[in-house]
Amino acid sequence: LAEVLEHEQDLPSCTPDGHDMPLMVNTGLAVDSVGLLKPRISGVGLYRTEVPFMITERFPSEQEQARLYREQLEGFAPLPVVMRTLDIGGDKDLPYFPINEANPFLGWRGIRVTLDHPEVLMVQLRAMLRASDGLNNLQILLPMVTNIDEVDAALRLLDRALVELAEDGVHLERPRVGVMIEVPATLYQLEALAARVDFFSVGSNDLTQYLLAVDRNNPRVADLYDACHPAVLAALARLAEEASQLRVPTSVCGELAGDPAGALLLMGMGFDALSMNAPSLPRVRAAIRRVSLSSARELVGEILSMPTSKEVRSHLGKCFTAWQ
Ligand code: PEP
Ligand code: MG
Repeated sequence: LAEVLEHEQDLPSCTPDGHDMPLMVNTGLAVDSVGLLKPRISGVGLYRTEVPFMITERFPSEQEQARLYREQLEGFAPLPVVMRTLDIGGDKDLPYFPINEANPFLGWRGIRVTLDHPEVLMVQLRAMLRASDGLNNLQILLPMVTNIDEVDAALRLLDRALVELAEDGVHLERPRVGVMIEVPATLYQLEALAARVDFFSVGSNDLTQYLLAVDRNNPRVADLYDACHPAVLAALARLAEEASQLRVPTSVCGELAGDPAGALLLMGMGFDALSMNAPSLPRVRAAIRRVSLSSARELVGEILSMPTSKEVRSHLGKCFTAWQ
């Protein structure tokens, strides 16, 4: 089976009824298999910038960051690379920037930290912009957004970074900017967000955790953490529909996108792209190549009427086996 899937890796991620489903990768550290990956994907859907920050002893300088980012942008060019601004806090601590809180997932995290430390965000934004000079494939993603003000503040800093670079003689257009949809509040402000940014990227890991009030890392409640909870699926389906009405391209970069059955559901809901860890690509591509968009849509219709995760999972399992 592994050989069959490997052979399919160079074939398009297209359903039997002709629907192209762009697949992207999530990255963090330097990707040494860029050459192999590049022809098989539509870009990098999520570059977690905190990952390289976690293995240094201090905040990397603007120059050091620019070098790292350039590697990603150049490696994958001309494909788009979505770089997320620092998403520390929650479960991701930097040894040289400890955050001690009773409820870290509800605390100082992601954009909340970087807006309180604009000097950190400015260095990162300038490094990203510098790295993108001449390549034109940078997109910037804001994590853990809860309030519209946060987006406005981040955009102001981005514009300031652009001005500062221009003063240095580096003239760049503002890159496309997106917001992570991972705090439930954003589900109810899509229109206001759409007026400000160019794309949405759904963090299904955090969206699940926050919708269900279940810590994504606590083994005691691991059974309750379930992206197939009917409420999570209903929220995702509504989000896909609303984003498409608003004409905002929307992808999913949480673990659900890298699960073959989850990927089919997301495709059926109407998401525009799926971003996953590279090892998940073969099985997701194989699923997409075997299941028509119309069947995936039908499946979504069926599972949205089911009241428990158990029923959803059992139905998904049955359909999935039948499709193999
Ligand atoms: C998510 O929350 O689904 C996500 C992709 O971001 P992270 O896992 O880095 O929080
Ligand atoms: Mg997240």
